[in-house]
Amino acid sequence: MSIIAWLPAAAFAGLFVVMIARALATPRAAPPRALPPGTLDAFAGVEDKLAALVRVPTVSRFDPAEEDEAAFALFRAELARLYPTATARLLPADAGDRGILLEWPGSDRTLAPAIMTAHFDVVPPGDESDWESPPFSGDRSGGWVRGRGSQDIKVTLACMLEAAERLLLRGFTPRRTVYFAFGGDEETGGRRGAARIASELARRGVKASFLLDEGGVVADGMLPFADRPIALVGISEKGYVDVVMAAKGLGGHASMPPRHTAAGMIAKAVGAGEARRFPAVMTYTLSKFLAALAPYVPFGYRLLFRNLGVTAPLVKAAFSGSPSTNALLRTTAAATMLSASDKENVLPARARAVFNVRILPGSSVREALARLDRIASRFGATATFAHHGHANDPLPESPVEHEGYEAIGRAIAAAHPEAGVAPFMFTAATDTKHYGDVAGAMYRFAPIVQGPDDLSRIHAANERVSVENVRRCCLFYETLLGGM
Ligand SMILES: [Zn+2]
Repeated sequence: MSIIAWLPAAAFAGLFVVMIARALATPRAAPPRALPPGTLDAFAGVEDKLAALVRVPTVSRFDPAEEDEAAFALFRAELARLYPTATARLLPADAGDRGILLEWPGSDRTLAPAIMTAHFDVVPPGDESDWESPPFSGDRSGGWVRGRGSQDIKVTLACMLEAAERLLLRGFTPRRTVYFAFGGDEETGGRRGAARIASELARRGVKASFLLDEGGVVADGMLPFADRPIALVGISEKGYVDVVMAAKGLGGHASMPPRHTAAGMIAKAVGAGEARRFPAVMTYTLSKFLAALAPYVPFGYRLLFRNLGVTAPLVKAAFSGSPSTNALLRTTAAATMLSASDKENVLPARARAVFNVRILPGSSVREALARLDRIASRFGATATFAHHGHANDPLPESPVEHEGYEAIGRAIAAAHPEAGVAPFMFTAATDTKHYGDVAGAMYRFAPIVQGPDDLSRIHAANERVSVENVRRCCLFYETLLGGM
């Protein structure tokens, strides 16, 4: 065999050697450390303050007439009672009836501020008979704080103020100014809370270095190939739009139908929309996520994750196979609503389908709509925005090489030393979207350990958070704010 014939094999072998070398250059992380015994004792009792906040039924609803204004007023009073030093010494700003904005002035005005956000509204409890203890009981039995809002997300709000309270009592002043920004209508869009707070910050000319909002968690038992829990710090989130595909028909009696009815046209368009998925993209977030996981995974995965220049097609193919990983790779369009004729023997004059679309960072509402419209047009249908839906482009991805990300990493190491840290894309939407003009980098992370069972309780019955989680959460914010 000539030497030429051997060249491709030699090149392949060479490439493989380089890939192995790159994988070997990322050593496995040292075994995880446990929190030193007694570390959390200093935080005994913080869970009772969270329970008190859970007892206030700050349910937000799309119709303001159905909301309990007294509960929202009581919530503010409870904050003053539970965190007397923080609420007296931090500077309040007028942020409307659903916004709480507190400024902790820093000693070094040359440093860009940080914004700590959370929300104090909760979703309705649903059927109360599904709950083991009443949804607003703040039941503290068995090592838990139970009730609506305990996980989502009064726990972070309580611990942010607890940390500020403790640091203030110790005479601590942060170097950079810290804003606490709490919205009271996140679950219904954030226009009265976060949007109002953001416009007040903009009016003051604030341009924060970074913002920290709810989002990822310390994921336990959710990344099966990792050897430890992984703190997933959201550095991006998907955009959102509802798209209506519609087709017109002639209507009339169904005894002599045309070859294709409006219903048939829409069915074909929906089928084509499902068959032709949006393209898979190795985003900045996904490549940084996989690179950060490399120290915690077996060698085979490390080989894949450290050589994405070569292995990206393999990773894309593997991730496309399951809904949770597929959502990290591409814009998704889920057909959710269908309608056509409302009588068995009448041809539809109009048929429609609604797609709920979650847009990958780097793309846009306009791009997603144009693609669905191209598909629809092949079947005589059109795609437009849904009238009642809202639409927002994805925010830019935030960097991992950043003082904010690094500070969050140090606080995770203090409160969750057993966990690895990785950047992540958050597939739900939060209040963060309102802060694009006043914050540079935006991170989404709640410092509590959550497994699949915990996550299934969010926005569902029997929401709860463990006492240990509450205390670790407070340790996280004390470390983070104490390092500001
Ligand atoms: Zn939330």
